[in-house]
Amino acid sequence: MMMPLSRAEALKGLERGVEVLVIGGGITGAGVALDAASRGYRVGLVERADYSGGTSSRSTKLVHGGIRYLPQGHLALVREGLRERGRLLRLAPHLVHPLSFVVPLYAGLRRPLGVRIPSLLRSFAPLGIRMGLAAYDMFARDPRLRHRTMSRAQVERDVPDLNPNGLRGALVYYDARADDVRLTHAVLATARACGAVTCNYAALTALLREGGRVTGAAVEDRLTGSSFEVSARFVVNATGIWGEQVAALDPKPEFRIRHSKGAHLVLRPGAVAHKEAIVIPETDDGRLAFIVPWAGRHVLGTTDDAYDGDLSSPLVSGGDVDYLLDHANRYLRRPLGKGDVTAAFAGIRPLVAAASGPTSVMGRDHHVAVSPGGLISIVGGKLTGYRAMAEDTVDAITARDGSRRQCRTASLPLTGAAGLEQARTALSASGLAADQQTHLLESYGAQCLDLLALMRADQALASRLVPGIAVTAAEVVYACRAEQAVTLADCMFLRTRLAVLDTEAAEDAVAAVASLMAGELGWDAAETHRQRQTYEARRDRERAYLG
Ligand SMILES: Cc1cc2nc3c(=O)[nH]c(=O)nc-3n(C[C@H](O)[C@H](O)[C@H](O)COP(=O)(O)OP(=O)(O)OC[C@H]3O[C@@H](n4cnc5c(N)ncnc54)[C@H](O)[C@@H]3O)c2cc1C
Repeated sequence: MMMPLSRAEALKGLERGVEVLVIGGGITGAGVALDAASRGYRVGLVERADYSGGTSSRSTKLVHGGIRYLPQGHLALVREGLRERGRLLRLAPHLVHPLSFVVPLYAGLRRPLGVRIPSLLRSFAPLGIRMGLAAYDMFARDPRLRHRTMSRAQVERDVPDLNPNGLRGALVYYDARADDVRLTHAVLATARACGAVTCNYAALTALLREGGRVTGAAVEDRLTGSSFEVSARFVVNATGIWGEQVAALDPKPEFRIRHSKGAHLVLRPGAVAHKEAIVIPETDDGRLAFIVPWAGRHVLGTTDDAYDGDLSSPLVSGGDVDYLLDHANRYLRRPLGKGDVTAAFAGIRPLVAAASGPTSVMGRDHHVAVSPGGLISIVGGKLTGYRAMAEDTVDAITARDGSRRQCRTASLPLTGAAGLEQARTALSASGLAADQQTHLLESYGAQCLDLLALMRADQALASRLVPGIAVTAAEVVYACRAEQAVTLADCMFLRTRLAVLDTEAAEDAVAAVASLMAGELGWDAAETHRQRQTYEARRDRERAYLG
């Protein structure tokens, strides 16, 4: 197994100082670390909690141009999203997969895809949507992924979930899906392979300054409480929804971040029969929503509401559940009920503030801001655009540096992408069930060979943590040894995703996960108990939507 630096070694590496210090270990910070390291900078990254524990684990899992931004006229944003989608399909074929979306066309749709259509023109709505999808295809320039139409009879046959009443037919367009947490880890692993040093549970607490210029950061090791200084020529603030707070350390940021909450429901396997994505074509608040396949289930999302609560633990409310089920049920033949919901999660969008108006009509564009002291903040954006955001950020560094180091990430495959054929062969000889093989390949790519090696050394690690869910015990060991997993709650929510796939079923795995982690990290009984209590408190908080 390729062993990256341990957390302790990473901390020592940071103390020696770096050229570029990235604050934030979500997809944006990971992308910046990769871009800078691959241009030859000495890079360090600190993450206050666990990697991808912020918004980067709470997305709808789409790698997309953003179909809903088309009618809003955000063409440049859509084009950039589609270009990045194309790159990610090439550079991370194990993680990013094409996905078809059925847009059902019903008589009397008033605001399909968020466009308000006057009653006289409603019969032209399908034509309008087709024109939009033709533009989407043109921007994407991928002949494999062109939209098509479906007759009513085809929809009834191929997408039996849709309510036939008033159904006229459907349009099918393509985007892509990816597990956000695994994508973040793949980008971090690639950054480390380029020499970056990354450390979780390490929080920036203050900026260091000399003569008004930012020269590094004071960092707290949150596992021990000790603090140390990291000197850096450039400090990048990639803290997403916390971006304005961190930018305020070098006073008065020139941007504001507005927060908007999006809730998702995870549905039990089989609740939706269609294997691909279904678009909920209109919502009362003028948007659209999606039913998207994820980890053998479907996710229904999302809401879009201004948010001023606790940034570190956004919760799904009972009202969110009602809203999502109500809107989905307007289009489904078999209504979904609360019994179909196995888990729920919410995230907060980091929107660069416009002057006023509801957050759902604000652009998802990103913005690079450099403070007078030299703190570089990258804010806004989407998961899909992380690479382009990172390129713009590191371009701001090279511009200040006067260096000509060119961006390399547009053609740099992510860790796990090379050697997929060999990995497939090894998986098919492994004796693992088909769903486990797919899960391992789509989560780790060729690195699944490392997990297979763990299973060969200890056969018990090949077993599922929960019946019916593809996650294996080996993944917990791998997370501790190769990816700095340090808490039980992180392993349950982020590393295995069990607690966000099925909160009840996850209960059956807690003892096994805790025991594996105790073995890896040397926890005694008291520490294991403390970890379980922390996990249970978070689990109970996150289940508040059950009322
Ligand atoms: C509901 C919802 C659905 C979405 N769906 C999609 C989608 O389908 N496709 C898509 O492309 N995009 C989607 N997005 C957008 C996408 O998820 C985000 O743009 C992206 O994940 C933001 O990543 P980030 O790294 O900027 O922020 P985060 O992932 O939040 O990372 C910021 C990190 O900074 C850390 N941090 C904060 N303060 C400090 C400090 N002082 N020291 C050290 N670390 C610190 C935090 O702990 C956090 O981990 C969605 C967003 C939401 C909310």
